[in-house]
Amino acid sequence: MTKKKKIKKDNFEFKIVDKFDDDDFFDDCPVCQAMKFAQEKERQPTRSKLKDVLLKAKEKGAIVGGSLLEEKESQMPKWMECTWRRVPCGKDDCPICGRIKRDRQRHIEKGEDPDDLKSVSEDVGRNFKEALEMIKKDAESRGFDITNIENIKEPPEPKKFPLYGEIEKWNKSVMAFGDMTQVSGEFWIHTEAAADLFWYANTLMAKTYRQLCNRWHINNGDDYGEFDRQYTSYILKECLEILKKSLKGLVNSYPQKQELNSLYSNFLKLERKIIKI
Ligand SMILES: [Zn+2]
Repeated sequence: MTKKKKIKKDNFEFKIVDKFDDDDFFDDCPVCQAMKFAQEKERQPTRSKLKDVLLKAKEKGAIVGGSLLEEKESQMPKWMECTWRRVPCGKDDCPICGRIKRDRQRHIEKGEDPDDLKSVSEDVGRNFKEALEMIKKDAESRGFDITNIENIKEPPEPKKFPLYGEIEKWNKSVMAFGDMTQVSGEFWIHTEAAADLFWYANTLMAKTYRQLCNRWHINNGDDYGEFDRQYTSYILKECLEILKKSLKGLVNSYPQKQELNSLYSNFLKLERKIIKI
């Protein structure tokens, strides 16, 4: 069995990314929060308990310290990377990969096509409801001050952010170039670097919108924004590094240098703006 996702033809098609995009779903805030809450509750009771004990001891004047106390509450577990990386771990016991496998298996057993849009939207709806329930139950016990989850303000549409518009334009040029290259039968389109370029060009667009929303939430006084900002910032940095490596490699190794160089220089201009969000 192969761990890598197949690079399908439709990877090269332009997709509109908004807050309900399926690509972004498994990393959607409520879901990742819920997964995080569930995971930490299940797997790390001893750890959080130990932390409580240390904090109580500190209150009473004991000299305690160490990484456990300095650990940030918003630190995400490693498996969260499987929600956005092109090549996820694929392990059965991974909360993300295992879940996707089980969802797919259920559709196959029912005689449905797991890639069919209806199946996907069913999973999205089911997981989203579950996630909201879990958040309501667990946010408080995890110490997050997300008091009125129903009252979280709805952020603006992607088009309302000028930077999103710029990235969308860049993304369109990447996808159009991909289509053109595929038609002309260039070999490099089948390389890992090319797969990274097309995959993370989409991720970059989705995550930039998400970070713009986080910034918007923070400016509007929602705790929710700060909660998500840190991890999204990490994802963006990773995406930018991967894209940089991919474009650099492609520019140096393959023909169509002019087009690739233009994509690369526009990317570098965007990078400077993205890291400032
Ligand atoms: Zn995984």
